[in-house]
Amino acid sequence: MISSMKNGFSADSKLSTLVDDVATVAGYLWEKGWAERNAGNISVRITDLIARDALRVGAQKRYPLPVAYPYLQGQLFLVTGTEKRMRDVAKNPLENLIIIEIEENANHYRVYPLSEKFDSFLPTSELPTHLLLHNAWAQRKTVERVVLHAHVTSLIVLTHFDEIVSASSLNKIILQMHPEMATYLPHGIGFVPFEIPGTTEIATVTLDAFREHEVVVWQKHGAFSIGKNLYDAFDKMDIVAKSASIWLAARQAGVLPKEKKYS
Ligand code: 13P
Ligand code: ZN
Repeated sequence: MISSMKNGFSADSKLSTLVDDVATVAGYLWEKGWAERNAGNISVRITDLIARDALRVGAQKRYPLPVAYPYLQGQLFLVTGTEKRMRDVAKNPLENLIIIEIEENANHYRVYPLSEKFDSFLPTSELPTHLLLHNAWAQRKTVERVVLHAHVTSLIVLTHFDEIVSASSLNKIILQMHPEMATYLPHGIGFVPFEIPGTTEIATVTLDAFREHEVVVWQKHGAFSIGKNLYDAFDKMDIVAKSASIWLAARQAGVLPKEKKYS
């Protein structure tokens, strides 16, 4: 338990605003239909938003990490709990989010609940992917601090087409369906062939796909998006989803959309 949170956050706290933003974006994911049951997860690096002393209250549980994340030593993250529903995160963020602290040895983490009603849940099962991305940004000192994952229907449908099995075949469609892509994601999106979720293997391939992109599709599963804040990450995912749904709607209407260069 975090001392300043016993009675909720103080109204002016930066962390309180961030928790509200996570709740808002979790609500968007649910409303979009991208978060059936517990689908989707969110992490935000918050190391500079909370006084470390406030964390040292009560007993904290510690857990091993699957691999060490050397650039995350001592870093703090706000993360959705595993098996938590986005619609519940939206309504009641304090009971569905936790803070985790990566220990100095970088291969264990500690869990800090945000609510007195904490029922001892763990962070998202996709933590390996979230942390590997945060680790890369910490190493490169870049501005990203948010990782967003959701089961974006239109993108999942696209990856069921036999001819869409790579970043280039996916981008041939996505880049040409919507002028917003040329403005905001001119290099298109990344693609990860099907892998077992929640593993360090899928995390490694995903990190690779993010080297040149800000949105990455997991074949037959969903999408990841990154950003400097929650709305930035959500907007990128939303633009890509729109582009995919335009193509699918045109196909359903019996039209095969023609190639169109926007840039
Ligand atoms: P979690 O509930 O563990 O976050 O898993 C949801 C999900 O989408 C897995 O890919
Ligand atoms: Zn998923």
